[in-house]
Amino acid sequence: MASSSSSNRYSTGLGRGDGNMYCYCGDKLKVRTSWTKANPRRRFYGCPNYASGKKCKMFQFVDEELPNQYYKELIFEMHEQCSTFGKENQLKHDEDTESKQNQLKKIMEDLKVTKSKMKLYDRLFVCCLIVCVCYVMVAFAP
Ligand SMILES: [Zn+2]
Repeated sequence: MASSSSSNRYSTGLGRGDGNMYCYCGDKLKVRTSWTKANPRRRFYGCPNYASGKKCKMFQFVDEELPNQYYKELIFEMHEQCSTFGKENQLKHDEDTESKQNQLKKIMEDLKVTKSKMKLYDRLFVCCLIVCVCYVMVAFAP
């Protein structure tokens, strides 16, 4: 039966029946994301103690490998651009919020002025209309 194993092809870790995956060293496995050029944005199960120097060989990809080098480079480059963009944004963030707040204030004030102007124009328009109607009535009166 080859088909039965396909559904849990990428979840073979060491389950204990509680929905979590455990490492060979006994700790809960964490899903991490690889950002290497060979495997950009590919999630994998890694040993939580890997950084602390435990020589644990737990490593298992969650996602399928990208179909070709083109996609790999594309995603890798996108990530590079995003991360540099993010850093620049963070640096600018403080200045930006202040100037944006000022802009918003200006816009709000402009809106108020426009609204009061609109009211004035509305009244003028109604007055003109009344005058016109009166004129027409007088002009065409028998
Ligand atoms: Zn481990």
